[in-house]
Amino acid sequence: MPFSSLIGNERIKKLLGRLIGDGRLGQGLIFAGPRGVGKYQFALSLAQALNCERPAEGDACGRCAACQRISAAEHLDVRTVTPDGQFIKIAQTRELSLEAQFRPYEGRHRVIIVDDADRLRIEASNSILKTLEEPPELSLIVLVTSKPYALLETIRSRCQRINFGPLSATELENYLLAAGRPREKARLVARLARGSIGSAIGVDLDEYIEKRRLMMELAEALFVQRDTVRLIKAAEYLGKKIERDDFITHIDVLMTLLSDLFRLKVGGGAESIINLDVADRLSRAAESVTPESITAVVERLESVTLGMNRNLNRQIAMEAALII
Ligand SMILES: [Zn+2]
Repeated sequence: MPFSSLIGNERIKKLLGRLIGDGRLGQGLIFAGPRGVGKYQFALSLAQALNCERPAEGDACGRCAACQRISAAEHLDVRTVTPDGQFIKIAQTRELSLEAQFRPYEGRHRVIIVDDADRLRIEASNSILKTLEEPPELSLIVLVTSKPYALLETIRSRCQRINFGPLSATELENYLLAAGRPREKARLVARLARGSIGSAIGVDLDEYIEKRRLMMELAEALFVQRDTVRLIKAAEYLGKKIERDDFITHIDVLMTLLSDLFRLKVGGGAESIINLDVADRLSRAAESVTPESITAVVERLESVTLGMNRNLNRQIAMEAALII
């Protein structure tokens, strides 16, 4: 895929295009940034831009044989290494380091992409480092990572670092719309994914909406009706009837509602909230609360989730958090 078809990080598209155009790309790059923002896809697009048969202004065409072979992971000069189990091992990098010494087989530029590069074992790191120390001409190593600080200092000092940022809610929403999601759903998923396209793809919206229905009732019982009986029932459900992991996701959903209530309360406006599709209901609830009462509940819920590691009785802790 050419850079022009990728979403987000527009600044990096321009930067890479310029570095390719000026021949200033260097031989080691670190693509650093949060998970799920497209770093690996950018590395593949870079490999395409360097090997495309019909490149234009530092970008690939996405259609020629070279571009297609790179997309299909069939191009002999573009190789990806990913962890084998928990780590990237020396056996995986040794061969690539040797290969890097030769001229490209079929394209113009050899590109080695190391995904999750923070999981390189020390011996594997050293073999990459050796290649970076005596970089063969026409070879480029791209280290993709969400934890750049975990790379060897000696590797970091020999690479140019490119910092990726999270995607905006609008960029994610446009991506989801282009992928055929209905507007209403695309908007909610884009806001829930907090800047990560990987998370946006993974969001199970039906499950989220079902949990949100329960948590919205709980928030209303807490702040609007102040209905102790319902709160005791909710504490019992969350504290006893569901598994620990399910409990944590319910609390995460409740936290999105509380943060929305807080934003509405401090004048953020409906556009600033996550659960935009239920903005009216949230605005009505917001009339009955103060920002202080919301933060007090958030703090108590946080201490419940922290206390879970100490075998705390979840039901009693939830009653204490919800009933004042
Ligand atoms: Zn091409």
